[in-house]
Amino acid sequence: MKKIAILGSTGSIGTQTLEVVRQNNTELEVVALAAGTNVDLMEKQIREFMPKTAVMGDEKTAADLKARIADLSGVKVLAGMDGMLEMASEPDYEILVTAIVGMIGIRPTIAAIEAGKDIALANKETLVCAGHIIMPLAEKKGIKILPVDSEHSAIFQSLQGSPKNRIEKIILTCSGGPFRGMKKEELAAKTPEDALKHPNWNMGRKITIDSASLVNKGLEVMEASWLFGVGPERVCVTVHPQSVLHSAVEFADGAVVGQMGTPDMKLPINYALFYPDRKPMQSAKLDLFKTAALTFEKPDTETFRGLALALDAAHIGGTMPTVFNAANEEAVARFLDHKTGFLGIYEDIERAMNSCKVKENPSVDEILDAEKAAREAVKAV
Ligand code: NDP
Repeated sequence: MKKIAILGSTGSIGTQTLEVVRQNNTELEVVALAAGTNVDLMEKQIREFMPKTAVMGDEKTAADLKARIADLSGVKVLAGMDGMLEMASEPDYEILVTAIVGMIGIRPTIAAIEAGKDIALANKETLVCAGHIIMPLAEKKGIKILPVDSEHSAIFQSLQGSPKNRIEKIILTCSGGPFRGMKKEELAAKTPEDALKHPNWNMGRKITIDSASLVNKGLEVMEASWLFGVGPERVCVTVHPQSVLHSAVEFADGAVVGQMGTPDMKLPINYALFYPDRKPMQSAKLDLFKTAALTFEKPDTETFRGLALALDAAHIGGTMPTVFNAANEEAVARFLDHKTGFLGIYEDIERAMNSCKVKENPSVDEILDAEKAAREAVKAV
């Protein structure tokens, strides 16, 4: 049995990870789960998977959970960041699935690497802000960072058997989201409800908004750059509305190797959990005869400024990716609360990037300071 822990078990990636566990319950065992506020679902997950540790976002939700599962013995209930750090450092598991949303994933991921655990990484914000800490630490500890993001999993799969130093460029595909082809005037009127209708993927709310704004693609450029040791200028974002080619690598000899499939996150999750095996999966298979033409376009970075701002942040480096990411998290929350318009997300990010000082090679505390400053810059409006 491979023992796994999941940060963010009640979310989109977390629940799909548990679906993969259900399909492989003689090979995977869940020993720890962490979530934020969804006590109802956490209780159900505990009763089904019987982990040894469960963490909720704060003391109140943890107390609620404890009361609900008082009839069960052997489940330790913890709370907040201290709880997640304790869970991440526990000896009794092999791989941590980081399916939590936002920068809150940084410290537990570092704690798990310090404890020698492999990481199945969905939480891209961690690498965006702290890639310079995480990647060398993972190398030092000899642990694997296995990408769960579908594009990064596709790149990782395309690289199997080929030397990393022969990568010419990475072709990072992008569906274009629900607003592909629109101009600024049309974007100005878009509501959260419009932005939450992704054409191909069913994901959590924050990443769905990030997909509509192309901020997600910008974060993915930074994530790819850290994961595969390639400068952001060699990560080529390519709009591919059908989401069949999940990403590709062009090698020095001109060969382009990519991974295709249906848009199902369980495939990259399954691959990360069983790597290097390819466990059979119950899922719809790609039928190329039924696939419409595959098309590729350049992204419109003038309209979708989230991508252009992300590339600027990637080139500046230091704490700037953190400022970009934290300002976006704050701006997306404001947009979802109807406190700003869709284009307001770009304005909020740009204002924070213009007002925050850059610190090179930041420590975790300096990253968290930069996060705070960026959030304040957005709230200062
Ligand atoms: P969701 O919003 O669906 O889920 C987020 C999870 O994080 C929930 O379990 C939530 O708990 C938990 N969480 C949030 N805040 C806290 C907190 N303060 N303490 C503890 N737990 C918390 O997100 P997704 O699953 O969509 O995304 C997760 C990560 O994976 C993101 O970084 C995203 O960019 C990345 N990703 C997602 C993809 C997808 O298809 N969804 C694809 C590729 C990457 P609760 O709900 O109980 O509050």
